[in-house]
Amino acid sequence: MNALRLNVAGLLKETAGAARDFVVDVTPAELAPILEDARPLEPLRGELRLMRTPRSIFVRGDLTTRVVVECSRCLADVETPAGVEVEAEYFPEVDVTTGLSLPAPDDDLAFTIDENHELDLTEVVRQGLLLALPMQIVCRETCQGLCVQCGANLNEGPCDCPSEVSEGSLGGLGALLRQAAADRAGPLG
Ligand SMILES: [Zn+2]
Ligand SMILES: [Zn+2]
Repeated sequence: MNALRLNVAGLLKETAGAARDFVVDVTPAELAPILEDARPLEPLRGELRLMRTPRSIFVRGDLTTRVVVECSRCLADVETPAGVEVEAEYFPEVDVTTGLSLPAPDDDLAFTIDENHELDLTEVVRQGLLLALPMQIVCRETCQGLCVQCGANLNEGPCDCPSEVSEGSLGGLGALLRQAAADRAGPLG
């Protein structure tokens, strides 16, 4: 995604300690493809500080947006803020002045800056938003969810389905009670 790719050629040419601030403003349409189960309502906005270190560029800052996700019980839309705390280190693949390849960072999971000196924040933002959204979001604590049999939204009132669980246990209990009654009835004849 272009909106999350920053050209850092200028900063790579500077010495360790140099910093640049970048304003991030990603539209919902640009953000949507990297959100799996959430629909962005507002742009992802914030400011990032990029700092040159001897071997890398360190990125830090806070980005926020608002998204819509499904209630895990009744599937209704739930609107929630989502923030990403960015803290990531990016290692250049090539030397900005010589154009020669640089050794890969020790950590396989480290992020890299490609040969066009572009730093891609997509993965950092994707992972950050995943962490920001709780797995089991509910529209409200008292949400009754959907009937497992007919799919009716139980927040709107009870459905007509017989309750299978209580039926079953009552059925078993009923048989026992009938048996007990029969046993008692026996001697009395
Ligand atoms: Zn719900
Ligand atoms: Zn039902």
